[in-house]
Amino acid sequence: MPSTLVIGGGPAGLAAAWAAAQVGDQVTLLDDNPALGGQIWRGGVPAAHQRFLDPSITVRTGVQIHSANQIPAADRLILATGTRERFLPFPGWTLPHILGAGGLQAMVKSGLPIAGKRVVITGTGPLLLAVGAYLRKRGAMVVLIAEQAPFSRIAQFTRELWREPAKLFQAAQLGWGLRYRADAWPIRADAGSITIQGHGKIPCDYVACGFGLVVNTELPALLGCAIDAGQVVTDSKQRTTIPHIYWAGAGSVDRSILEGQIAGFDLERARPLYPARDRALRFDRRIDQAFRLRSELSNLAAPDTIVCRCEDVPFGAVWQQRDWRSAKLQTRCGMGPCQGRICGPALEHLCGWPASSVRPPIFPTRLENLLDERR
Ligand SMILES: Cc1cc2nc3c(=O)[nH]c(=O)nc-3n(C[C@H](O)[C@H](O)[C@H](O)COP(=O)(O)OP(=O)(O)OC[C@H]3O[C@@H](n4cnc5c(N)ncnc54)[C@H](O)[C@@H]3O)c2cc1C
Repeated sequence: MPSTLVIGGGPAGLAAAWAAAQVGDQVTLLDDNPALGGQIWRGGVPAAHQRFLDPSITVRTGVQIHSANQIPAADRLILATGTRERFLPFPGWTLPHILGAGGLQAMVKSGLPIAGKRVVITGTGPLLLAVGAYLRKRGAMVVLIAEQAPFSRIAQFTRELWREPAKLFQAAQLGWGLRYRADAWPIRADAGSITIQGHGKIPCDYVACGFGLVVNTELPALLGCAIDAGQVVTDSKQRTTIPHIYWAGAGSVDRSILEGQIAGFDLERARPLYPARDRALRFDRRIDQAFRLRSELSNLAAPDTIVCRCEDVPFGAVWQQRDWRSAKLQTRCGMGPCQGRICGPALEHLCGWPASSVRPPIFPTRLENLLDERR
């Protein structure tokens, strides 16, 4: 029986594992979280997708793949490692009340009490609305959603949504009653407040902040798959440039599920899904275009604003460096426990430096884990 290994148990990985099981493969699904579901199904896989939890699939949670040596052998490897949030540094962004938008949502899902707390949500993209709607449902006072994109672009995007009535309805439902403003971005944070362009200083308990999503390309890059403009290069069957390795997900949930199924199925069952996947991809690209980062965001960091939180490196120490490599060598920027996962995408935007090369371990790990691999 052919074997398929899936790494990542979000919507894409779950759909891929299920599809591979449907074609008769022996499937193993690994994820680093204690439970399956990824970012969006953290609270549990919804009823409509419960079929993905096929009992024939061997599931191993709490397993973080940090190097190529650690990956069990399989005839086919499907990578579905998803995305993380992009943070852009501004004065005060490291204060304790400033959190990632998805991060705050995840903390509330895990039990952080939010009822009655004043929350300002800022950054960019549809995730801000989703987080606002979720926090409000949990009793938070969502004071403002400050979206950096210009009003004209949001208006244009909303007009185009008439072609996707289900999505328009979803956006209207999420945003109903929330104070959402375009052309608004964080200028600085102080204890207990945030100053937003065009809206002044706003007292708050939490700021939920996120400037879009960055694809987790470290593992595919480590395995030699081609990466282009921050995306894993795939063909229509979701094959990467390495013959037995597939990539799925890191888009909207609809697209991630379709890509997972296409990667997991055989060609005959995958092909009919291509048009829906391509439509979802075109929609995601329109989102990327509408919510692209404005140039003013490159000027938020002051010379003393920390850019690398792990190594306490201020922006003034890195901005005159030639590239990532010299920033690392001269300042230790990106050399701490997160290995540039946070400051890398920020500096790509601020200084135009492409991501640096990837080396194992891609996540901090215990020495004993590394020793285990050599035995
Ligand atoms: C913080 C955050 C919050 C989000 N919240 C929402 C939301 O509320 N609504 C919405 O529509 N979209 C949300 N999104 C977008 C969302 O990621 C996508 O819609 C969808 O979840 C993508 O599915 P996926 O399977 O590709 O990735 P994910 O859901 O991200 O799943 C990837 C999985 O792979 C695991 N993984 C990654 N690397 C490794 C490794 N090396 N070893 C083992 N496991 C690994 C991760 O832990 C994760 O469980 C959020 C994104 C982020 C980053």
